[in-house]
Amino acid sequence: LPGQMMRRPLLISSILRHADRHFGDREIVSRQDDGSLHRYTYRDCHSRSRKLAGALAAMDVRMGDRVGTLAWNGHRHLELYYAVSGSGAVIHTINPRLHAEQLAFIINDAGDQHLFFERSFAPLVKSIAPRCPNVKSFILLDRDAAGIEGIPRLVCYEDLIAARDDDYTWPVFDEDAASGLCYTSGTTGNPKGVLYSHRSTMLHSYASVAPDMLNLSARDCVMPVVPMFHVNAWGLPYSAALVGAKLVLPGPALDGASLHELFEREGVTFSAGVPTIWLGLLNHVRGNGLRFSTFARTVIGGSACPPALMDAFRDDYGVQVIHAFGMTEISPIATVCTLQAHHAALPPAEQRLLLQAQGRVPFGVDMKIVDDDGAELPWDGQTFGHLMVRGPWVVDAYFQQPPGSAVVDGWFPTGDVSTISADGYMRITDRSKDLIKSGGEWIGSIDLENIAMAHASVLQAACVAVAHPKWEERPLLVVVRKPGCALERDALLAHFEGKVARWWIPDDVVFVDSLPMGPTGKVQKNRIRERYRDHLIK
Ligand code: ADP
Repeated sequence: LPGQMMRRPLLISSILRHADRHFGDREIVSRQDDGSLHRYTYRDCHSRSRKLAGALAAMDVRMGDRVGTLAWNGHRHLELYYAVSGSGAVIHTINPRLHAEQLAFIINDAGDQHLFFERSFAPLVKSIAPRCPNVKSFILLDRDAAGIEGIPRLVCYEDLIAARDDDYTWPVFDEDAASGLCYTSGTTGNPKGVLYSHRSTMLHSYASVAPDMLNLSARDCVMPVVPMFHVNAWGLPYSAALVGAKLVLPGPALDGASLHELFEREGVTFSAGVPTIWLGLLNHVRGNGLRFSTFARTVIGGSACPPALMDAFRDDYGVQVIHAFGMTEISPIATVCTLQAHHAALPPAEQRLLLQAQGRVPFGVDMKIVDDDGAELPWDGQTFGHLMVRGPWVVDAYFQQPPGSAVVDGWFPTGDVSTISADGYMRITDRSKDLIKSGGEWIGSIDLENIAMAHASVLQAACVAVAHPKWEERPLLVVVRKPGCALERDALLAHFEGKVARWWIPDDVVFVDSLPMGPTGKVQKNRIRERYRDHLIK
């Protein structure tokens, strides 16, 4: 017996229409290339997105066509999010920090018909354009193209908009249609495309705003510091509009000083980003004796959040750090860490310990851990195994691969190793390729890094497996000291005593000026491993 309720497809355009109608005057503030601030409202954004959608139609962009973007977090990128997906085409947000070769690869692999790019990426676009012959136009996100040379088929964004009026009507189509394409960063081999649908994006957006997730509301001022090319800024361009939050888009300036200035000037209450960004911000506010007057909550994820960072934000600045875990393949949110009623009576130290986990799943995501043979492992908080997930916003197949080819028995293998506690708190031990195998036993690098980063003189730490003649692999700690600190190897290793089993303590420490960073602001452990592989074999 069929139910008799309306069948209204879940379409991304409906979010912006809703934001316009109900929060039309709410502001969207963007930091531009020259540092100035651009301000307008959800109403303006809706109007310009419809003009852009009309322009796309006039350019013969059709349902399912891919449109690439090389852009920071800004209002024009936001318009592209809604205009491209809303019109039935697919927005392919490209990470500009990839090498030119990888960029050309993914633009061609995606089959991008048009490429929208920010002025600061003009040299990059110039170098890749000859390798992307199928791109019909390169569209500069600006008013005029003065000073831009050597880019073929060049068009100006504002000319496209100026030529249209906003009488465009958002089309209605199947919610399973593709809406966005995002490539994994491809630390090994070529990047792989993950093709989101309107339905998956909408369900992810609904789930992500809930109180035990990002807890977003119309009273928030949301600043996604995580780039809009890093898994759709974790869905914030959708979820902030869905609840009617003010949106602050920080552009290219992600240093501590620029961010702090925006937090204060715009009254930001909520933000999100990878740990390295928050380390930079923390150093800035510490070094300059600054405070936050409105900043209340931040989601930190993308790599493990060091407990020392969480503690500093909470204890010294009153900012709640919410630890979250996700992946490009999971849209990205899989788990978020918040406490439950039965934790209220726990001593603060135990609550802190719980909050260091990657967290629990929202309704919609199922998870399990399995051994090497695929057998399910217990949720006892001790046993670790391969983390598998499934749900309506989890990938089924990579772009242009056959249905189901990314999953095993209906579950997506995350490539991470974790434990799950009896009450469902997932804790990442490591990426499986970062685990350290010492004498047949596994050592997780994240715990060791967290301990190192809790030392007062350590700015950043990475722990990697290096070859060992007897134990096969042993942990090596690679550390960046805080400026002016004279920490030595033995003192740092002594700091591990009593915090982990003795055989987990790293064999040696190497002090460096900086750690290699990947395109999404994560430490590239594979490069550190390569560099120091033979460190203990002399
Ligand atoms: P990439 O790092 O390849 O660019 P993603 O951004 O999709 O791609 O990264 C997903 C991976 O990041 C996860 O599989 C996991 O290893 C790691 N990760 C994400 N969030 C966390 C977290 N909170 N703690 C530990 N690892 C995390």
